[in-house]
Amino acid sequence: MSELRYNPMLRTWTMVGANRQGRPHLPKDWCPFCPGSGKVPDAFDVLKYDNDFPILSLEAGPPELPPSPLYKSAPATGKCEVILYSSIHQARLHELEQAHVEKLVDLWIERTSALSRDPRIRYVFPFENRGEEVGVTMPHPHGQIYAYGFVPAKVEAELASCRAHFDETGHCLVCDMNAEERRFGGRMVMENESFLAYLPFFTDYPYGVMVAPKAHRPSLLNLDGQERRDLAALLKSLTAAFDRMFERPFPYMMVFHHAPVNAPNHADCGPYTHFHIEFYPPLRAKDKIKWYAGSEMGAWAAGNVMRVEDSVLHLRRAVLDEQKAKGGDEAVASELRRVHEDLYGKGERPLVVCSPSRVNLIGEHIDYNGGLVLPAALDRATYLCARKRDDDRIIARNLNFDGAFEMRIGDALVKDAATSWFNYLSGMLDVLKGAGLSMDRGFEAVFYSDVPAGSGVSSSAAVEVGIGKALCALYGLPLDDRRIALLGQKAENEFVGVSCGIMDQFAVALSKQGHALLLNCATQETRDVPLVLHDVALVLINTNKERRLADSKYNERRAECDTALAILRQALPDLRDLCSLDEATFEQHAHLIADPSVCRRARHVVCENARVKEAVKALEAGDLLSLGRWMKASHESLRDLYEVTGEHLDALFDLAKDEPSCLGTRMTGAGFGGCTVSLVQKQGLPNFVARVSKGYEQRTGLTPAFHVCQASPGVRLLVSSVKR
Ligand SMILES: [Zn+2]
Ligand SMILES: [Zn+2]
Ligand SMILES: [Zn+2]
Repeated sequence: MSELRYNPMLRTWTMVGANRQGRPHLPKDWCPFCPGSGKVPDAFDVLKYDNDFPILSLEAGPPELPPSPLYKSAPATGKCEVILYSSIHQARLHELEQAHVEKLVDLWIERTSALSRDPRIRYVFPFENRGEEVGVTMPHPHGQIYAYGFVPAKVEAELASCRAHFDETGHCLVCDMNAEERRFGGRMVMENESFLAYLPFFTDYPYGVMVAPKAHRPSLLNLDGQERRDLAALLKSLTAAFDRMFERPFPYMMVFHHAPVNAPNHADCGPYTHFHIEFYPPLRAKDKIKWYAGSEMGAWAAGNVMRVEDSVLHLRRAVLDEQKAKGGDEAVASELRRVHEDLYGKGERPLVVCSPSRVNLIGEHIDYNGGLVLPAALDRATYLCARKRDDDRIIARNLNFDGAFEMRIGDALVKDAATSWFNYLSGMLDVLKGAGLSMDRGFEAVFYSDVPAGSGVSSSAAVEVGIGKALCALYGLPLDDRRIALLGQKAENEFVGVSCGIMDQFAVALSKQGHALLLNCATQETRDVPLVLHDVALVLINTNKERRLADSKYNERRAECDTALAILRQALPDLRDLCSLDEATFEQHAHLIADPSVCRRARHVVCENARVKEAVKALEAGDLLSLGRWMKASHESLRDLYEVTGEHLDALFDLAKDEPSCLGTRMTGAGFGGCTVSLVQKQGLPNFVARVSKGYEQRTGLTPAFHVCQASPGVRLLVSSVKR
């Protein structure tokens, strides 16, 4: 039994389908949409499949109960179709080839057209429910089409508003929204030749994207060939960004709104009806659901828990991540300039700077002891897009953080503890002014970073050096990269108030393609050391352990080293620093250091410095196996002598070093959490990741994050600024 029952309170129809209760319980792993199920052909790209248990039918019988004076019912005339996006059970829409998604768009159009030909159909509604959060247990990629014998209430409500707007202004409402969102820019998600995607001003979901053609098209049926291709491309990019944003399949409802068909009361709706797709994603964070609950369902009074001007930045960051994965720095630069234009408007072409993160391959906790360190710049980077303004304002936004930095050229630079990246910007402005930066006009900038936050690969140095590089270029200040790096350190030491050595800024500023940077921290001399990895990957593994002890222990270790140095100087008055000692001389004098833990600290420093020299020899000989051995020895020393590893880093070390594909591994950074760095043969990477991940979870209860990195050159200008 299936029928429509009229709801006189809302003046719309309820579809009643008692037969749906008779759905059989299907075997758990059986999928009717997979080839071999007996339900679908053996091979297909996209497929229309008639719903086995439709609530609407073109052969619907008469209603069950006779009408009463108050209540009316009607046959449930219509059709329910399933649209299979692919024959591959685990495929995701964005993973399908462009030509494949075009076939999907064509199928939507073909079915809409075919169903429209039945005069009893009033509205053809393609939609997709995706994810368990919206009740879908079957991951096979598919959507549905409902062809109703009536125009559904939400569509009626939209059409009434569009009509009223048209009567008032002579404009299509969606055309006006498109124009307004483009003008404002701060809610745009992406666009291509024919389509826009944005978070409308009023949308009720944090990521409630609306997709609309730029040209006025009343229906899906009115799209031309280019628009069909562009719709396919946009849906591909958008759903890719969705899935990337929280690094999980992103649940949503996707609905198509366009002109009704065969509906006499909407016969003239063309001028004010504008095809669009609305997304209703129920997530507000990776695992936080925004429920459509009492107020939304019961009162149609939506409550969006986020400002869409903020949530849109998360989407744009996901788009940039996607661009970087596909097209590298160049793609990031052009997308970031689009973001800049959306946030600040058209004007002079902004410059784009790429400032890499770094990992220290070996030489840990000896930078402040005058030692040798061997960092390498990584392809995870901070990007900065900036141009001068016409006034004296300075505005900067960061896609990785909510809120904007705003000041005027003459304003005092203040340290704002609440938003740390503001401090790096203020700090750099401060030291650059000291170095001769004179600003005739302000600037507007946007930052984006794919550096894993809090993992100890020095996102702060990347930000400082990137700002220095960008502002020198923008204002014509002739400082070289070495000078910029020194200013970055000065800003961090004096303005931000973190005492750091010069390693991070030098690695970010001075690294060359295909090389690690050997830095003598006592003399600031550097040398490029070939870093030829061939089939070996640099793998960062984040413990995902909060680094609570790091700061206090860091200061404690520095003090212990100072103590050791002071004691040794009594016997060796000319001793510059601990790293000027060779191992033999140190061991001759080690007995002078009475405190055994202070002595252990000093022994680590001296031996670690020697290991760096050995590691350099190994790299120059192209001997990665030896480099790996020195890395392991470094970790053991940091664990046993310097005591800065902690159980999480040790767990990763123990697990990684036993893997056959792992040449070397050690903690990197200050310790007590953060990351390890490993050299792993690319061939064995999947097994390495699976086993280390599983073992770490068993030992610590935490899930580690893996970042497979490439060595990269230091800071560089990707695009220079030009006048219009
Ligand atoms: Zn399947
Ligand atoms: Zn329009
Ligand atoms: Zn709509």
